[in-house]
Amino acid sequence: MNGIIFDIQQYAIYDGPGIRTIVFMKGCPLSCIWCQNPESQQLEPQLAYFQEKCGLCGKCVEICPENALILSDNRIIREKKLCKKCGACVKICPNNVMEIIGEEKSIQDIIEIILRDKPFYDNSGGGITVSGGEPTMQKEFLMNLLKNVKKEGIHTAIETCGYFNSEMVDKLVSVADLFLFDIKHIEADLHEHYTGVSNENILYNFHRIYKLVGPERIICRIPLIPGFNTDQKTIQGIIDFLKEIRFTGSVHLMPYNRMAKTKYEKIGKKDEYHDMGELREDKIEKIVEQLKSQSFDVIVNE
Ligand code: SF4
Ligand code: SF4
Repeated sequence: MNGIIFDIQQYAIYDGPGIRTIVFMKGCPLSCIWCQNPESQQLEPQLAYFQEKCGLCGKCVEICPENALILSDNRIIREKKLCKKCGACVKICPNNVMEIIGEEKSIQDIIEIILRDKPFYDNSGGGITVSGGEPTMQKEFLMNLLKNVKKEGIHTAIETCGYFNSEMVDKLVSVADLFLFDIKHIEADLHEHYTGVSNENILYNFHRIYKLVGPERIICRIPLIPGFNTDQKTIQGIIDFLKEIRFTGSVHLMPYNRMAKTKYEKIGKKDEYHDMGELREDKIEKIVEQLKSQSFDVIVNE
């Protein structure tokens, strides 16, 4: 069985305890307007082209076996329907302008990479984290991967937007040692407006998983997005939800940054980039204080 993976990062220290390997899976059911990993949204592999670095040499046009590329108006235009994602243009480009984002990997391929760093996990209390996109979009692959990793005695974590069929909860709990679970907003209509989906299923899944695993195995992560959820009232809404379900676990804050702009350009979605504005340090500190004053254990992630 193969999964579509767009990155594997080793020696990560922010996505769960200890030193970890992060496996980034493609596909996401949300379309958050601030998305910092827009290359993860589409499930299928996609060809990226970074126009600013292109020297217009035309080598990619010449080599393309499907005649999918045209040099026009000082840029390369690709006919998506013709492209078979063979990678020939990626290999020949002297400026590394082309990139195929996402490739099929087998469970065995990934396990081999993961096992290389087992001593680091063992010495640091680390393991692997499966991220995305939304890993549950490739649920069979995800379950099999985590089962196999657990067989090797390695700690497993999932980073999730929480939007998945609730029938999966029991199975996920059996293979994931830790959930890094996003709560973005408590008001369903605003959540839907900014992310494309309502939050009802997300809040339900959070509560169900929490009831099953307790505070040690689920972390509430709040992406702090200026103009969306950083005001006192919205944060209080999330706090009230956590109190209502008697959540006593940790809260991790994930501050927004503006670094995703070039990613949008690379995948040809320049017009879909939204600059959500600056997130000031004093704003983050106020949110930390708000959570701490109501007895939550808070960490601000890099
Ligand atoms: S091979 Fe690379 S540098 Fe040359 S035209 Fe194609 S994308 Fe541009
Ligand atoms: S990936 Fe292959 S088919 Fe697609 S544009 Fe590049 S050379 Fe052509």
